[in-house]
Amino acid sequence: MTAAESNGLIHNVHQAPFPDADVLDVVSLLGAAEQERLLNLRAHLQANVRKQVIEYWNREEFPFEMLPGLAEQGLGQLSVDGSSWLFRGLAYAEVSRADDSLSALVGIHNELIVGMIHQLGSDAQREEWLDRLRNFKAIGAFAMTEPDHGSDVSGGLETTAQQTDNGWVINGQKRWIGAGTIADFSLVWARDVADDKVKGFLVRMDLPGVSADKITNKIGLRVMQNADISFDNVQIREEDLLPGAAEFSAANNMLRNSRIWVGWQAYGAQMHAIDVARDYALDRQQFGRPLAKFQLIQQDLAEMISNAMASFGLMYQVARFQEEQRVEMVHAALGKATGSRLLRDTAARARNILGGNGIVSTYEAAKIFSDAEVVHTYEGTYEINSLIVARAVTGVSAFV
Ligand SMILES: Cc1cc2nc3c(=O)[nH]c(=O)nc-3n(C[C@H](O)[C@H](O)[C@H](O)COP(=O)(O)OP(=O)(O)OC[C@H]3O[C@@H](n4cnc5c(N)ncnc54)[C@H](O)[C@@H]3O)c2cc1C
Repeated sequence: MTAAESNGLIHNVHQAPFPDADVLDVVSLLGAAEQERLLNLRAHLQANVRKQVIEYWNREEFPFEMLPGLAEQGLGQLSVDGSSWLFRGLAYAEVSRADDSLSALVGIHNELIVGMIHQLGSDAQREEWLDRLRNFKAIGAFAMTEPDHGSDVSGGLETTAQQTDNGWVINGQKRWIGAGTIADFSLVWARDVADDKVKGFLVRMDLPGVSADKITNKIGLRVMQNADISFDNVQIREEDLLPGAAEFSAANNMLRNSRIWVGWQAYGAQMHAIDVARDYALDRQQFGRPLAKFQLIQQDLAEMISNAMASFGLMYQVARFQEEQRVEMVHAALGKATGSRLLRDTAARARNILGGNGIVSTYEAAKIFSDAEVVHTYEGTYEINSLIVARAVTGVSAFV
């Protein structure tokens, strides 16, 4: 027992160099260069993003001025810069540890936009977009979900693409599209009326017939500008079809990796919740002592850490599978579903430890708590991902 503990001066322990809540020393699993890169990233996000972004969250605005800093940290090109899968995941988690909305932006940008154009695009598309995307000088939106098709979108998708003599005409509606009002283009998934296959197209947002309306009054991910987008007889060029995405199944690997990113997001958001709750418990005094001195609070903190470390353990194995090229959708679904379930519990405990202040977004716990609801729902809802896991071990699908 330390002198501080024997004197009951837990508060002093906080003022001394305080150990990170990362009790498994997760960062040490990276090589030296990536360790340094991750710690620099953490320092940047904690100093320049975490507190500053709260007002944007409150106002449902996007912090454009933070993009150059994120670009400087290399967050615009994680999927194409040769980073290890573990670093990539931990980088997503670090962004969540500061803000979930920006983590969503960075995750979608890397996994679903940069990654897809890099792997499924033509030389001309790569040349046109990749340099600007790497620096966040361009932003793309991933437009799959529709007003009438969420969980069943892969089979039910209604947006159409009709080939003409000199290109394609796109018609339909998309809902919930992240960055939809600020993006330069959308990667739109539409059904080719000729062969009934779902294909991917790059559609510039300034084309006639494209309109995007911001979805307001969200309870979570309020910094992310989600939109309802309409495509009304939008004429695009023949070369705007992503050649590698002439069938929906071509996107499967990337959709799987994107689901994995959300698993990392759930882990990072839990670390954020622990940071907030631990600091508050050490500072806040009731009954003449810090909250952290109460056993029930300590149990909460211990269980929050146990949730986060369990989420990490799962994602670590998923990253190893990615490195060994044997990752499958069941692994992504397990990581995402479990992380989002545990995040809900961890975030609720953090909110409770802050008492009344846990209801106010400026103390962060309420923001994490609300954002957790989105993590639970997007990239395949908790239920759909659970069904994918159970399908893998029974051989029986409950949803198709
Ligand atoms: C903030 C936010 C950001 C998003 N960003 C994007 C984006 O950038 N691009 C994009 O394309 N989409 C995006 N989405 C859409 C997201 O992927 C969908 O919301 C999600 O797939 C669920 O679809 P839904 O909302 O239509 O719910 P539904 O599919 O209508 O589901 C409603 C409920 O029914 C349950 N359910 C449905 N089917 C079954 C079943 N067979 N068995 C058991 N339960 C079932 C679901 O789990 C859920 O609880 C975003 C969503 C949100 C909220």
